[in-house]
Amino acid sequence: MASTALRSELAVCGVALDAPVQRHGGAGPSDDGHVLLGGAGAALPIVPTSRYQVRDGRLLLDGADLGLAVEPVRRPAFYDLTTADGVPYHQIARLHGADVLATTVVQTCVRYRVEERCRFCAIEESLRRGSTTAVKTPEQLAEVAEAAVRLDGVRQLVMTTGTTAGRDRGARHLARCVRAVLAAVPGLAVQVQCEPPGDLATLTELREAGAASIGIHVESLDDAARRRWMPGKGSVPLAEYRAAWREAVRVFGRNQVSTYLIIGLGEDPDELVAGAAELVEMGVYPFVVPLRSIAGTLATDVDGASPPAAEVVADVTTRVAALLRAAGMRGSEQRAGCAACGACSTLPSAGA
Ligand code: SF4
Repeated sequence: MASTALRSELAVCGVALDAPVQRHGGAGPSDDGHVLLGGAGAALPIVPTSRYQVRDGRLLLDGADLGLAVEPVRRPAFYDLTTADGVPYHQIARLHGADVLATTVVQTCVRYRVEERCRFCAIEESLRRGSTTAVKTPEQLAEVAEAAVRLDGVRQLVMTTGTTAGRDRGARHLARCVRAVLAAVPGLAVQVQCEPPGDLATLTELREAGAASIGIHVESLDDAARRRWMPGKGSVPLAEYRAAWREAVRVFGRNQVSTYLIIGLGEDPDELVAGAAELVEMGVYPFVVPLRSIAGTLATDVDGASPPAAEVVADVTTRVAALLRAAGMRGSEQRAGCAACGACSTLPSAGA
């Protein structure tokens, strides 16, 4: 496996590589290629001008072999199928890493107006490009998940959603989708991702639908950074997140609840790590990821924001990983989700 220092460099500088499984726009980290790096899943930013390159399955820096194998994830067979109602499967769900199926069940967000949207998010860009559909039905997801498990050995499903206008912010549609998928593929590990869903009883509904784990993603615990980077979502009080995390830990269990924390939103690294410590204490896994350059985001296209320095990413990663290890919380012990996958974070390289 890559060291934390090298993994952080790759996360920030990207790699010149050609990967058959790529993602552009959409929710969460994107504009990346999916590979096995030293045997571990990694979603690496594709940067044709990077000093890091892949040649003959080896990672090179300025042409020098770094001693790590890079194996591109193969295009899955389910991408070539079409649903009963005529939609290509790859517009319904995508392969992430080697064995994770991921979907955004509602590809629009009530906060996507310029003055409200999260500046690092490109959720509606993949919709605008025609590479996905606005709403995935439970039936479509069940059909695609069944094929992805049968044909491509998918082991878990990540289901996220754009925020809807309803009080539940989209969580109830997630519950319907989970039920349909598990009826078609009993036992598949499913993680759902949503905002705090208004009525906290909805978290029990998601668990009873069969979701194994949940991500409630805050991105930053610094209110100044939240207002600057996420004017819409940042208006949800942190107290609401804390109440949702607590209830989610009660319902899903310790270390089956996670949240993204983005490194590079101007937050002091010590404060970011202190926030991560608070989360770990609650039983919530802080999935730290660096800010990425993603075409279609306001951060990249308007602000010209750059990813943080690799040294900062490595430092935060090392300290958060130590907290997680001390608490006995490993991503690989989550049943499903981004922490279980780990491809977008440097945490696995630091033993978390
Ligand atoms: S960490 Fe999450 S977003 Fe990244 S590849 Fe894995 S499942 Fe997808």
